[in-house]
Amino acid sequence: MSASDPRFIEPEEEQAFLDTIERWVQKEVRPVVMEHDHGDIWPEKLVHQMAELGLFGATIGREYGGLGLPASTYVKIIAYISSYWMAITGIVNSHLIMAAAVERFGTEAQKAKWLPVFATGEIRGGLALTEPNAGTDLQAIRTIAQREGDEYVINGTKTWISNGIQGSCFALLVKTDPKTDPRYKGMSLMIAPKGEGFHVGKKFDKLGYKSIDSAELVFDNYRIPVDNLIGGVEGHGFFQATGGLELGRINVAARGVGLAEGALRLATEYAQVRQTMGRPIADHQAIQLKLGEMVTRARAARLLTFDAAEAYDRGERCDMEAGMAKYFASEAAVRNSEEALRIYGGYGYSKEYEIERYYRDSILMCIGEGTNEMQRMIISKQWIKRNPA
Ligand SMILES: Cc1cc2nc3c(=O)[nH]c(=O)nc-3n(C[C@H](O)[C@H](O)[C@H](O)COP(=O)(O)OP(=O)(O)OC[C@H]3O[C@@H](n4cnc5c(N)ncnc54)[C@H](O)[C@@H]3O)c2cc1C
Repeated sequence: MSASDPRFIEPEEEQAFLDTIERWVQKEVRPVVMEHDHGDIWPEKLVHQMAELGLFGATIGREYGGLGLPASTYVKIIAYISSYWMAITGIVNSHLIMAAAVERFGTEAQKAKWLPVFATGEIRGGLALTEPNAGTDLQAIRTIAQREGDEYVINGTKTWISNGIQGSCFALLVKTDPKTDPRYKGMSLMIAPKGEGFHVGKKFDKLGYKSIDSAELVFDNYRIPVDNLIGGVEGHGFFQATGGLELGRINVAARGVGLAEGALRLATEYAQVRQTMGRPIADHQAIQLKLGEMVTRARAARLLTFDAAEAYDRGERCDMEAGMAKYFASEAAVRNSEEALRIYGGYGYSKEYEIERYYRDSILMCIGEGTNEMQRMIISKQWIKRNPA
């Protein structure tokens, strides 16, 4: 990225911001993680602090009051926070994907109206794509927006929406024309603030990813002005939503890097303290083999993630790079947290230690923003396309 790029950041400035994040994590986040995770408690104080740090505007352009950080800086922040508590990054990530959809595809009027309030965190939210019958197959969604004069009337149900309870505005994927073939041409993305007809349904009780709410959203004759159609033209919603997923996948990869590195850190500390047969378990070859694989995996995940973030910053098509980073880093998170848990022996299975949280949280990285089954297909298709016979 050149110095003339609006998202360019001087290395010293980037380091100063990363130092601030590190101090915040060590002082404010680390001491309260277990209490919040075990109690599934919404981290209200930390959310206020994240707003003060500017994190809700991290990737939003400076002209709209955001920090305007490049993806390559953002992934460093997310990886670091995730190495101590992954779940809290979901509060920011989903919100910034919503903001990115408006910033990349919205009209000037939409950007001027929504981005400044997204950047401060005054209005926070997320991305509402998934439905009970449509996750991977997004084109199967049934939520319908019917135009009536200057308004859309929306009916349908979204499920598994991150920040669904605590958030107040969502980028909502709907069908504006359910009969179109191909199906994606009838899809549109709307800016949907909570209001009459927008109901929050059940909150999911999850294996991990605690404290951040995942909820069902129900739309019952919910009305929004036509001005809330992102980009102002119907039929572009599928590409707007999946275009946002590129950044989303890089974000998930960064969370995977954090989990893989955090699990490695915990295992490394424990292996040097815990003794068996009169010496630290780190001296036993079986543990050395595990640590050797874990450190290699974490490093490879980090490099792939930065590679994808840099391609994104250069404005290149990077679905293959983002897919590879997301796939590899999420699997690295799962493997490293499992190996770390094994290194802890029986204590790894106890809630008195932190490693079990990494184990519970990491598997989500393989599901969110496109499952890892789909990632490998995306990688392969793009690879073939770039290498025609
Ligand atoms: C904690 C959590 C938070 C989430 N947050 C959000 C959010 O904020 N917003 C949002 O919109 N969604 C969110 N989701 C939903 C998530 O994006 C979906 O769960 C995911 O896309 C998978 O969809 P599905 O659950 O319907 O699985 P399905 O699509 O039913 O897939 C089931 C299985 O089949 C495989 N599969 C499906 N199709 C194919 C195929 N063509 N080829 C090969 N294999 C295939 C999948 O990989 C998977 O293994 C969240 C989910 C969770 C668990």
